[in-house]
Amino acid sequence: MPVNGAEGRATAMAGLGGLYRNLLLDKSFVALAEKATRQRNLNDYEKGTVRVINRGIRAFKKLPYEFVEKENRTYVKAEIAWRRAKERSDFRIFRPELEEVIKISQDKAELLGYDGHPYDALVDIHEENMKTAELDRIFARFIPRLKHVRDRVMSSGSEFTKESRLEHRKYAVDKMGRINDQILKILNYDRDSVRLDVSTHPSTFPLGPKDARITTRYGGVNFKNTLFSTIHEAGHALYDLNIDASLSMTPLGRVPRFLSQCASMGLHESQSRFWENFVGRGRSFVRAVMPILRNNLDFLKRYDEEQVYAYFNSVRPGSIRTGADEVTYDFHIALRYEIEKLLLTGELKAGDLPEFWNDKAEEFLGVRPKNEAEGALQDIQWTMGFGYFPTYTLGNIAAALVWHRAKRELKGLEKNIRDRRFKPLQGWLRQKIYRYGLTYPPAVLLKKKFGEGYNPDYAIKYLEEKYLQ
Ligand code: MG
Repeated sequence: MPVNGAEGRATAMAGLGGLYRNLLLDKSFVALAEKATRQRNLNDYEKGTVRVINRGIRAFKKLPYEFVEKENRTYVKAEIAWRRAKERSDFRIFRPELEEVIKISQDKAELLGYDGHPYDALVDIHEENMKTAELDRIFARFIPRLKHVRDRVMSSGSEFTKESRLEHRKYAVDKMGRINDQILKILNYDRDSVRLDVSTHPSTFPLGPKDARITTRYGGVNFKNTLFSTIHEAGHALYDLNIDASLSMTPLGRVPRFLSQCASMGLHESQSRFWENFVGRGRSFVRAVMPILRNNLDFLKRYDEEQVYAYFNSVRPGSIRTGADEVTYDFHIALRYEIEKLLLTGELKAGDLPEFWNDKAEEFLGVRPKNEAEGALQDIQWTMGFGYFPTYTLGNIAAALVWHRAKRELKGLEKNIRDRRFKPLQGWLRQKIYRYGLTYPPAVLLKKKFGEGYNPDYAIKYLEEKYLQ
Protein backbone atom coordinates (compact mmCIF):
# COMPACT_ATOMS: atom_id res chain seq x y z
CA MET A 1 0.00 0.00 0.00
CA PRO A 2 1.28 3.50 -0.70
CA VAL A 3 3.50 4.74 2.15
CA ASN A 4 1.98 8.21 2.09
CA GLY A 5 -1.43 6.70 2.86
CA ALA A 6 -0.27 5.32 6.21
CA GLU A 7 -1.49 8.22 8.29
CA GLY A 8 -4.88 8.32 6.56
CA ARG A 9 -5.31 4.58 6.98
CA ALA A 10 -4.38 4.83 10.66
CA THR A 11 -7.01 7.55 11.12
CA ALA A 12 -9.62 5.40 9.39
CA MET A 13 -8.70 2.37 11.52
CA ALA A 14 -8.91 4.44 14.70
CA GLY A 15 -12.35 5.72 13.62
CA LEU A 16 -13.60 2.20 12.91
CA GLY A 17 -12.15 1.04 16.22
CA GLY A 18 -14.13 3.78 17.96
CA LEU A 19 -17.35 2.75 16.22
CA TYR A 20 -16.72 -0.87 17.14
CA ARG A 21 -16.16 0.13 20.74
CA ASN A 22 -19.41 2.11 20.88
CA LEU A 23 -21.41 -0.78 19.42
CA LEU A 24 -19.90 -3.23 21.89
CA LEU A 25 -20.62 -0.96 24.86
CA ASP A 26 -24.13 -0.13 23.69
CA LYS A 27 -26.41 -0.58 26.72
CA SER A 28 -28.80 -3.01 25.06
CA PHE A 29 -25.91 -5.14 23.78
CA VAL A 30 -24.23 -5.21 27.21
CA ALA A 31 -27.57 -6.25 28.75
CA LEU A 32 -27.81 -9.13 26.27
CA ALA A 33 -24.27 -10.20 27.08
CA GLU A 34 -25.07 -10.14 30.80
CA LYS A 35 -28.16 -12.22 30.21
CA ALA A 36 -26.15 -14.74 28.18
CA THR A 37 -23.51 -14.90 30.91
CA ARG A 38 -26.18 -16.00 33.41
CA GLN A 39 -27.42 -18.82 31.16
CA ARG A 40 -26.74 -22.36 32.25
CA ASN A 41 -26.14 -25.43 30.09
CA LEU A 42 -24.33 -23.57 27.34
CA ASN A 43 -22.22 -25.72 25.02
CA ASP A 44 -18.52 -25.01 24.53
CA TYR A 45 -19.11 -22.78 21.50
CA GLU A 46 -21.73 -20.73 23.29
CA LYS A 47 -19.53 -20.43 26.36
CA GLY A 48 -16.64 -19.36 24.15
CA THR A 49 -18.76 -16.73 22.44
CA VAL A 50 -19.88 -15.27 25.76
CA ARG A 51 -16.30 -15.31 27.04
CA VAL A 52 -14.90 -13.52 23.99
CA ILE A 53 -17.64 -10.87 23.98
CA ASN A 54 -17.21 -10.23 27.70
CA ARG A 55 -13.49 -9.94 27.26
CA GLY A 56 -14.06 -7.14 24.78
CA ILE A 57 -16.66 -5.39 26.90
CA ARG A 58 -14.46 -5.57 30.00
CA ALA A 59 -11.46 -4.13 28.20
CA PHE A 60 -13.35 -1.27 26.57
CA LYS A 61 -15.12 -0.33 29.79
CA LYS A 62 -11.71 0.21 31.30
CA LEU A 63 -10.24 2.11 28.36
CA PRO A 64 -11.96 5.46 27.73
CA TYR A 65 -12.50 6.48 24.13
CA GLU A 66 -10.07 9.39 24.50
CA PHE A 67 -7.41 7.01 25.73
CA VAL A 68 -7.79 4.63 22.78
CA GLU A 69 -7.57 7.56 20.38
CA LYS A 70 -4.46 8.89 22.08
CA GLU A 71 -2.95 5.43 22.10
CA ASN A 72 -3.47 5.03 18.35
CA ARG A 73 -2.02 8.46 17.64
CA THR A 74 1.01 7.64 19.78
CA TYR A 75 1.65 4.47 17.78
CA VAL A 76 1.29 6.19 14.42
CA LYS A 77 3.77 8.89 15.42
CA ALA A 78 6.13 6.34 16.92
CA GLU A 79 6.15 4.30 13.73
CA ILE A 80 6.94 7.31 11.57
CA ALA A 81 9.83 8.29 13.89
CA TRP A 82 11.07 4.72 14.09
CA ARG A 83 11.25 4.39 10.30
CA ARG A 84 13.31 7.55 10.06
CA ALA A 85 15.52 6.56 12.98
CA LYS A 86 16.12 3.09 11.61
CA GLU A 87 17.00 4.43 8.17
CA ARG A 88 19.64 6.70 9.70
CA SER A 89 20.55 4.26 12.45
CA ASP A 90 20.05 7.06 14.96
CA PHE A 91 18.21 6.17 18.13
CA ARG A 92 17.93 9.83 19.20
CA ILE A 93 15.22 10.34 16.55
CA PHE A 94 13.09 7.57 18.06
CA ARG A 95 13.78 8.21 21.74
CA PRO A 96 11.06 10.84 22.50
CA GLU A 97 8.43 8.73 20.73
CA LEU A 98 9.54 5.60 22.57
CA GLU A 99 9.14 7.53 25.82
CA GLU A 100 5.55 8.27 24.78
CA VAL A 101 4.96 4.59 23.99
CA ILE A 102 6.31 3.62 27.42
CA LYS A 103 4.07 6.19 29.10
CA ILE A 104 0.94 5.10 27.23
CA SER A 105 1.74 1.43 27.95
CA GLN A 106 2.11 2.17 31.66
CA ASP A 107 -1.23 4.02 31.61
CA LYS A 108 -2.86 1.17 29.70
CA ALA A 109 -1.65 -1.41 32.21
CA GLU A 110 -3.03 0.69 35.08
CA LEU A 111 -6.38 1.17 33.33
CA LEU A 112 -6.74 -2.52 32.45
CA GLY A 113 -5.58 -3.56 35.91
CA TYR A 114 -3.48 -6.50 37.07
CA ASP A 115 -2.86 -8.57 40.17
CA GLY A 116 0.84 -9.27 39.88
CA HIS A 117 3.05 -7.41 37.40
CA PRO A 118 1.87 -4.50 35.19
CA TYR A 119 3.14 -6.51 32.21
CA ASP A 120 0.35 -9.04 32.94
CA ALA A 121 -2.24 -6.59 31.64
CA LEU A 122 -0.42 -6.17 28.32
CA VAL A 123 0.57 -9.76 27.61
CA ASP A 124 -3.03 -10.86 28.26
CA ILE A 125 -4.12 -8.92 25.18
CA HIS A 126 -2.12 -11.30 22.98
CA GLU A 127 -2.16 -14.42 25.13
CA GLU A 128 -5.32 -14.77 27.16
CA ASN A 129 -4.73 -15.54 30.86
CA MET A 130 -0.93 -15.58 30.54
CA LYS A 131 0.90 -14.04 33.51
CA THR A 132 4.38 -12.56 33.79
CA ALA A 133 5.24 -14.97 36.62
CA GLU A 134 4.43 -17.91 34.36
CA LEU A 135 6.38 -16.44 31.46
CA ASP A 136 9.33 -15.98 33.81
CA ARG A 137 9.08 -19.64 34.81
CA ILE A 138 8.91 -20.77 31.18
CA PHE A 139 11.92 -18.68 30.15
CA ALA A 140 13.89 -19.76 33.23
CA ARG A 141 13.29 -23.38 32.34
CA PHE A 142 14.06 -22.89 28.66
CA ILE A 143 16.86 -20.37 28.11
CA PRO A 144 19.69 -21.84 30.27
CA ARG A 145 19.21 -25.24 28.63
CA LEU A 146 19.04 -23.60 25.22
CA LYS A 147 22.40 -21.93 25.93
CA HIS A 148 23.79 -25.32 26.74
CA VAL A 149 22.49 -26.74 23.45
CA ARG A 150 23.90 -23.79 21.52
CA ASP A 151 27.35 -24.13 23.13
CA ARG A 152 27.46 -27.83 22.34
CA VAL A 153 26.35 -27.28 18.74
CA MET A 154 28.85 -24.48 18.20
CA SER A 155 31.74 -26.51 19.56
CA SER A 156 30.70 -29.67 17.71
CA GLY A 157 32.18 -28.53 14.41
CA SER A 158 29.24 -30.22 12.64
CA GLU A 159 27.97 -29.32 9.18
CA PHE A 160 25.36 -27.09 10.81
CA THR A 161 28.02 -24.69 12.04
CA LYS A 162 29.73 -24.27 8.68
CA GLU A 163 28.94 -21.55 6.23
CA SER A 164 27.31 -22.81 3.05
CA ARG A 165 28.11 -21.23 -0.30
CA LEU A 166 24.39 -21.23 -0.92
CA GLU A 167 24.08 -18.32 1.51
CA HIS A 168 25.80 -16.13 -1.08
CA ARG A 169 24.09 -17.54 -4.15
CA LYS A 170 22.05 -15.05 -6.13
CA TYR A 171 18.72 -16.17 -7.56
CA ALA A 172 16.29 -14.79 -10.12
CA VAL A 173 13.20 -13.44 -8.39
CA ASP A 174 10.77 -14.85 -10.97
CA LYS A 175 12.23 -18.33 -10.49
CA MET A 176 11.93 -18.10 -6.72
CA GLY A 177 8.36 -16.88 -7.16
CA ARG A 178 7.63 -19.98 -9.18
CA ILE A 179 9.13 -22.17 -6.43
CA ASN A 180 7.02 -20.49 -3.76
CA ASP A 181 3.92 -20.99 -5.88
CA GLN A 182 4.70 -24.65 -6.43
CA ILE A 183 5.34 -25.22 -2.74
CA LEU A 184 1.98 -23.71 -1.85
CA LYS A 185 0.49 -26.05 -4.41
CA ILE A 186 2.02 -29.23 -2.98
CA LEU A 187 0.93 -28.03 0.48
CA ASN A 188 -2.65 -28.13 -0.87
CA TYR A 189 -3.31 -24.40 -0.81
CA ASP A 190 -6.34 -23.53 -2.87
CA ARG A 191 -5.23 -20.51 -4.82
CA ASP A 192 -8.83 -19.35 -5.04
CA SER A 193 -8.60 -18.80 -1.27
CA VAL A 194 -4.99 -17.69 -0.86
CA ARG A 195 -3.02 -14.90 -2.51
CA LEU A 196 0.75 -14.63 -2.37
CA ASP A 197 2.17 -11.14 -2.83
CA VAL A 198 5.34 -9.21 -2.04
CA SER A 199 5.91 -6.81 0.86
CA THR A 200 8.81 -5.44 2.93
CA HIS A 201 7.80 -7.52 5.95
CA PRO A 202 6.28 -10.92 5.24
CA SER A 203 2.83 -11.08 6.83
CA THR A 204 -0.51 -12.84 6.79
CA PHE A 205 -3.80 -11.00 6.56
CA PRO A 206 -6.89 -13.13 7.15
CA LEU A 207 -9.64 -11.12 5.48
CA GLY A 208 -12.48 -13.55 5.97
CA PRO A 209 -13.48 -17.18 5.58
CA LYS A 210 -11.75 -18.66 2.53
CA ASP A 211 -9.72 -15.50 2.01
CA ALA A 212 -6.16 -15.35 3.31
CA ARG A 213 -3.51 -13.00 1.90
CA ILE A 214 0.10 -13.80 2.52
CA THR A 215 3.17 -11.85 1.56
CA THR A 216 6.80 -12.76 1.21
CA ARG A 217 9.94 -10.90 0.17
CA TYR A 218 12.70 -11.52 -2.33
CA GLY A 219 16.16 -10.36 -1.37
CA GLY A 220 17.76 -11.81 -4.50
CA VAL A 221 20.33 -13.82 -2.55
CA ASN A 222 20.25 -16.71 -0.03
CA PHE A 223 17.04 -18.32 -1.29
CA LYS A 224 16.10 -20.03 1.96
CA ASN A 225 15.01 -16.69 3.39
CA THR A 226 12.14 -16.21 0.98
CA LEU A 227 11.33 -19.92 0.97
CA PHE A 228 10.92 -20.11 4.75
CA SER A 229 9.16 -16.75 4.99
CA THR A 230 6.60 -18.11 2.56
CA ILE A 231 6.16 -21.39 4.42
CA HIS A 232 5.95 -19.50 7.73
CA GLU A 233 3.17 -17.21 6.53
CA ALA A 234 1.44 -20.12 4.81
CA GLY A 235 1.33 -21.82 8.23
CA HIS A 236 -0.45 -18.79 9.66
CA ALA A 237 -2.90 -18.83 6.75
CA LEU A 238 -3.59 -22.55 7.17
CA TYR A 239 -4.78 -21.90 10.72
CA ASP A 240 -7.08 -19.09 9.64
CA LEU A 241 -8.47 -21.03 6.69
CA ASN A 242 -9.29 -24.09 8.75
CA ILE A 243 -11.40 -22.53 11.44
CA ASP A 244 -14.75 -24.30 11.34
CA ALA A 245 -17.03 -22.77 8.72
CA SER A 246 -19.89 -22.76 11.23
CA LEU A 247 -17.90 -20.28 13.35
CA SER A 248 -17.35 -17.75 10.60
CA MET A 249 -19.12 -14.46 11.22
CA THR A 250 -19.23 -15.26 14.94
CA PRO A 251 -16.83 -13.90 17.59
CA LEU A 252 -15.09 -17.30 17.59
CA GLY A 253 -14.20 -17.43 13.95
CA ARG A 254 -12.81 -14.08 13.07
CA VAL A 255 -10.08 -11.78 14.24
CA PRO A 256 -11.69 -9.66 16.96
CA ARG A 257 -10.08 -6.32 16.41
CA PHE A 258 -11.00 -4.94 19.82
CA LEU A 259 -8.15 -6.80 21.47
CA SER A 260 -6.11 -7.23 18.30
CA GLN A 261 -5.67 -10.96 18.77
CA CYS A 262 -6.66 -14.28 17.29
CA ALA A 263 -7.06 -17.52 19.28
CA SER A 264 -3.80 -16.44 20.78
CA MET A 265 -0.69 -15.08 19.18
CA GLY A 266 1.38 -17.84 20.77
CA LEU A 267 -0.75 -20.59 19.26
CA HIS A 268 -0.92 -18.83 15.94
CA GLU A 269 2.84 -18.48 15.83
CA SER A 270 3.18 -22.13 16.83
CA GLN A 271 1.55 -23.05 13.54
CA SER A 272 3.73 -20.84 11.37
CA ARG A 273 6.83 -22.19 13.13
CA PHE A 274 5.50 -25.73 12.90
CA TRP A 275 5.41 -25.57 9.11
CA GLU A 276 8.50 -23.45 8.70
CA ASN A 277 10.80 -25.40 11.01
CA PHE A 278 9.49 -28.76 12.11
CA VAL A 279 8.17 -29.67 8.67
CA GLY A 280 9.99 -27.27 6.33
CA ARG A 281 13.53 -27.65 7.67
CA GLY A 282 13.25 -31.40 8.05
CA ARG A 283 15.06 -34.00 5.94
CA SER A 284 11.80 -35.42 4.60
CA PHE A 285 10.69 -32.03 3.33
CA VAL A 286 14.03 -31.44 1.64
CA ARG A 287 13.48 -34.72 -0.20
CA ALA A 288 9.95 -33.66 -1.14
CA VAL A 289 10.89 -30.28 -2.59
CA MET A 290 14.33 -31.00 -4.04
CA PRO A 291 12.96 -31.58 -7.58
CA ILE A 292 11.08 -28.28 -7.47
CA LEU A 293 14.18 -26.44 -6.24
CA ARG A 294 16.47 -28.06 -8.81
CA ASN A 295 14.08 -27.41 -11.66
CA ASN A 296 14.19 -23.69 -11.02
CA LEU A 297 17.62 -23.03 -9.51
CA ASP A 298 20.33 -24.35 -11.80
CA PHE A 299 23.10 -23.99 -9.23
CA LEU A 300 21.39 -26.59 -7.03
CA LYS A 301 22.23 -29.33 -9.51
CA ARG A 302 25.67 -29.41 -7.87
CA TYR A 303 24.28 -29.86 -4.35
CA ASP A 304 22.89 -33.01 -2.79
CA GLU A 305 20.06 -33.27 -0.30
CA GLU A 306 22.35 -33.40 2.71
CA GLN A 307 24.07 -30.18 1.68
CA VAL A 308 20.75 -28.42 1.21
CA TYR A 309 19.57 -29.78 4.57
CA ALA A 310 22.69 -28.40 6.28
CA TYR A 311 22.17 -25.05 4.53
CA PHE A 312 18.53 -24.88 5.64
CA ASN A 313 19.61 -25.55 9.22
CA SER A 314 22.85 -23.67 9.62
CA VAL A 315 23.33 -22.40 13.18
CA ARG A 316 24.97 -19.01 13.51
CA PRO A 317 24.43 -16.60 16.42
CA GLY A 318 23.93 -13.12 14.97
CA SER A 319 22.41 -9.83 15.99
CA ILE A 320 19.31 -9.98 13.74
CA ARG A 321 16.17 -11.78 14.90
CA THR A 322 14.38 -12.36 11.60
CA GLY A 323 15.99 -15.23 9.80
CA ALA A 324 17.73 -16.44 12.98
CA ASP A 325 18.13 -20.21 13.19
CA GLU A 326 16.10 -22.53 15.43
CA VAL A 327 18.83 -22.80 18.07
CA THR A 328 19.42 -19.08 18.61
CA TYR A 329 16.03 -17.54 17.75
CA ASP A 330 14.69 -17.58 21.29
CA PHE A 331 17.67 -15.69 22.68
CA HIS A 332 16.46 -12.74 20.62
CA ILE A 333 13.06 -13.06 22.28
CA ALA A 334 14.44 -13.52 25.80
CA LEU A 335 16.44 -10.32 25.35
CA ARG A 336 13.39 -8.34 24.20
CA TYR A 337 11.16 -9.78 26.90
CA GLU A 338 13.61 -8.80 29.62
CA ILE A 339 13.95 -5.29 28.22
CA GLU A 340 10.20 -4.75 27.80
CA LYS A 341 9.53 -5.49 31.44
CA LEU A 342 12.26 -3.11 32.57
CA LEU A 343 11.02 -0.31 30.30
CA LEU A 344 7.47 -0.77 31.54
CA THR A 345 8.40 -0.64 35.22
CA GLY A 346 10.73 2.30 34.61
CA GLU A 347 13.77 0.37 35.81
CA LEU A 348 15.31 1.01 32.41
CA LYS A 349 15.09 4.48 30.85
CA ALA A 350 14.58 4.90 27.12
CA GLY A 351 17.84 6.86 26.87
CA ASP A 352 19.83 3.94 28.26
CA LEU A 353 18.28 1.41 25.90
CA PRO A 354 20.90 1.31 23.09
CA GLU A 355 23.77 0.49 25.48
CA PHE A 356 21.68 -1.92 27.47
CA TRP A 357 20.51 -3.68 24.32
CA ASN A 358 24.06 -4.12 23.06
CA ASP A 359 25.24 -5.52 26.39
CA LYS A 360 22.35 -7.97 26.44
CA ALA A 361 22.94 -8.96 22.82
CA GLU A 362 26.50 -9.79 23.71
CA GLU A 363 25.38 -11.78 26.71
CA PHE A 364 22.72 -13.78 24.85
CA LEU A 365 24.20 -14.04 21.37
CA GLY A 366 27.86 -13.30 21.78
CA VAL A 367 27.60 -10.59 19.13
CA ARG A 368 27.58 -6.83 19.64
CA PRO A 369 25.34 -5.07 17.09
CA LYS A 370 27.27 -3.00 14.55
CA ASN A 371 24.96 -0.01 14.89
CA GLU A 372 21.66 1.11 16.39
CA ALA A 373 19.63 -0.04 13.38
CA GLU A 374 20.79 -3.58 14.18
CA GLY A 375 20.46 -2.97 17.90
CA ALA A 376 17.71 -1.14 19.76
CA LEU A 377 16.06 -0.01 16.51
CA GLN A 378 15.91 -3.47 15.01
CA ASP A 379 12.18 -4.22 15.23
CA ILE A 380 9.04 -2.27 14.51
CA GLN A 381 7.08 -3.97 17.32
CA TRP A 382 7.77 -1.42 20.05
CA THR A 383 6.05 1.28 18.05
CA MET A 384 2.85 -0.60 18.96
CA GLY A 385 3.43 -1.15 22.67
CA PHE A 386 4.63 -4.11 24.69
CA GLY A 387 3.57 -7.65 25.51
CA TYR A 388 3.80 -9.25 22.07
CA PHE A 389 7.37 -10.55 21.86
CA PRO A 390 7.14 -13.47 24.30
CA THR A 391 4.43 -15.04 22.14
CA TYR A 392 7.14 -15.89 19.59
CA THR A 393 8.84 -18.16 22.11
CA LEU A 394 5.51 -19.55 23.27
CA GLY A 395 4.92 -20.40 19.62
CA ASN A 396 8.22 -22.26 19.31
CA ILE A 397 7.54 -24.17 22.51
CA ALA A 398 4.00 -25.13 21.49
CA ALA A 399 5.14 -26.11 18.00
CA ALA A 400 7.62 -28.60 19.51
CA LEU A 401 4.88 -30.11 21.66
CA VAL A 402 2.57 -30.43 18.66
CA TRP A 403 5.34 -31.97 16.53
CA HIS A 404 6.15 -34.47 19.28
CA ARG A 405 2.53 -35.55 19.40
CA ALA A 406 2.11 -35.59 15.62
CA LYS A 407 5.04 -38.00 15.28
CA ARG A 408 3.53 -40.25 17.92
CA GLU A 409 -0.03 -40.20 16.65
CA LEU A 410 0.38 -40.09 12.87
CA LYS A 411 1.69 -43.27 11.36
CA GLY A 412 4.08 -42.76 8.47
CA LEU A 413 4.33 -39.00 9.03
CA GLU A 414 7.85 -38.67 7.64
CA LYS A 415 7.10 -40.89 4.66
CA ASN A 416 4.00 -38.88 3.90
CA ILE A 417 6.03 -35.69 3.95
CA ARG A 418 8.62 -37.23 1.62
CA ASP A 419 5.80 -38.28 -0.72
CA ARG A 420 4.19 -34.83 -0.57
CA ARG A 421 1.09 -36.19 1.16
CA PHE A 422 0.28 -33.41 3.63
CA LYS A 423 -3.46 -33.93 3.98
CA PRO A 424 -3.29 -36.39 6.91
CA LEU A 425 -1.16 -33.97 8.93
CA GLN A 426 -3.29 -30.98 7.97
CA GLY A 427 -6.47 -32.84 8.88
CA TRP A 428 -4.98 -33.84 12.22
CA LEU A 429 -3.97 -30.24 13.00
CA ARG A 430 -7.42 -29.08 12.00
CA GLN A 431 -9.02 -31.46 14.51
CA LYS A 432 -6.52 -30.64 17.23
CA ILE A 433 -6.29 -26.86 16.92
CA TYR A 434 -7.50 -24.98 13.88
CA ARG A 435 -11.21 -25.78 13.80
CA TYR A 436 -11.96 -24.28 17.22
CA GLY A 437 -11.04 -20.70 16.45
CA LEU A 438 -11.38 -18.77 19.71
CA THR A 439 -13.61 -21.35 21.41
CA TYR A 440 -11.06 -22.03 24.16
CA PRO A 441 -8.35 -19.89 25.74
CA PRO A 442 -4.94 -21.08 24.46
CA ALA A 443 -3.79 -22.92 27.61
CA VAL A 444 -7.16 -24.69 27.85
CA LEU A 445 -6.99 -25.84 24.23
CA LEU A 446 -3.43 -27.12 24.64
CA LYS A 447 -4.33 -28.99 27.81
CA LYS A 448 -7.47 -30.44 26.27
CA LYS A 449 -5.82 -31.65 23.07
CA PHE A 450 -2.22 -32.30 24.10
CA GLY A 451 -2.47 -32.92 27.83
CA GLU A 452 -0.18 -30.07 28.80
CA GLY A 453 0.58 -26.41 28.22
CA TYR A 454 3.70 -24.45 27.27
CA ASN A 455 6.27 -27.02 28.35
CA PRO A 456 9.72 -26.22 26.89
CA ASP A 457 11.06 -29.75 27.40
CA TYR A 458 9.92 -30.81 23.92
CA ALA A 459 11.71 -27.94 22.22
CA ILE A 460 14.97 -28.79 23.97
CA LYS A 461 14.60 -32.48 23.17
CA TYR A 462 13.86 -31.71 19.52
CA LEU A 463 16.90 -29.43 19.18
CA GLU A 464 19.20 -31.92 20.89
CA GLU A 465 18.05 -34.75 18.65
CA LYS A 466 18.31 -32.70 15.50
CA TYR A 467 21.57 -30.84 16.07
CA LEU A 468 23.56 -33.06 18.41
CA GLN A 469 23.19 -36.57 17.08
MG1 MG B 1 4.60 -15.22 12.44
